[in-house]
Amino acid sequence: MTPLFPRIALVGIGLIGSSLARVIRRNGLAGEIAIYTRSASTLNAARGLDLGDSYHETAEAAVAGADLVILCVPLGAISAVAEAISMSLAPGAIVSDVGSSKVSVIRDIQPWLPYGTHLVPAHPIAGTEHSGPESGFAELFEDRWCILTPLPDTEPTMIEKVAEFWRRTGSNVDIMDAENHDRVLAITSHLPHLIAFSIVDTATQLETDLQKEVIKFSSGGFRDFTRIAASDPVMWRDVFLNNRDAVLDILGRFSRDLAALQRAIRRSDGDALEEVFTRTRAVRRGVIEAKQDKPPSKP
Ligand code: NAP
Repeated sequence: MTPLFPRIALVGIGLIGSSLARVIRRNGLAGEIAIYTRSASTLNAARGLDLGDSYHETAEAAVAGADLVILCVPLGAISAVAEAISMSLAPGAIVSDVGSSKVSVIRDIQPWLPYGTHLVPAHPIAGTEHSGPESGFAELFEDRWCILTPLPDTEPTMIEKVAEFWRRTGSNVDIMDAENHDRVLAITSHLPHLIAFSIVDTATQLETDLQKEVIKFSSGGFRDFTRIAASDPVMWRDVFLNNRDAVLDILGRFSRDLAALQRAIRRSDGDALEEVFTRTRAVRRGVIEAKQDKPPSKP
């Protein structure tokens, strides 16, 4: 099959960038994969893993001649990277990304793009708590959603090219505006991570004896929070700094609902508790029906 893009440049080659490199190579999506990452050690690791066809010490060199450039760096680094590559982009190049918030990405990339290049922001809703090029795998995006948040004046053919790219990684593609994306992700991803960081941090501040037992009996629910709370600190710092408004809005609602549960417990109001827990149980069925998790295996 003819590659979708003659040359794809990956700027950043951690979990997401290296998973993309692997699936691009496996599925023949590019004629050439050009890789740039900030540090010599990560670039050497990418070379050792044979993730690309060319390795570059500057982002400018990696993006030169590329028809698709995908920024796979933390949100806080997007603006500086966009500035660095702006003069080296080929005419007609598509610039995309994988960042977890989208209003900030558009704010940080758009001013740097020369006339005749195209911005199509993307966010694969796929990940793990691991970082770095060794942690990536080609199947990461399979049956996951990838959300594109093009601007109203983005050429439809450019959106379709990026959509087709993601479909060929195994993803399902949806398109929405950036504000909506940020509100949806605030509740489905950012708030759950914040809660996990908070619970695990509370547990680590308990007295030493109690702390040991928290770890010993962690399979009671705490274990799942520890997995989420082991996610990359820099990436998540940047998510909260860059999706601040949507997260603060949803956090306000969550705090009110949590206070209501606290009141119900204090008043021994079993009906109120049961009513909430019955509603939430139905949500789990919806997630399984939407194939976003596996049903429990039969004993
Ligand atoms: P990662 O594994 O930590 O890799 C980060 C990459 O960005 C590395 O190549 C790193 O370079 C580079 N980098 C880090 N700080 C930089 C800076 N200040 N300037 C330039 N380059 C820098 O991260 P990741 O998990 O792949 O995340 C990358 C992006 O994907 C983030 O925007 C995140 O929001 C998004 N995302 C992540 C997940 C997830 O579950 N992890 C899911 C969906 C989307 P060096 O190693 O050379 O320093």
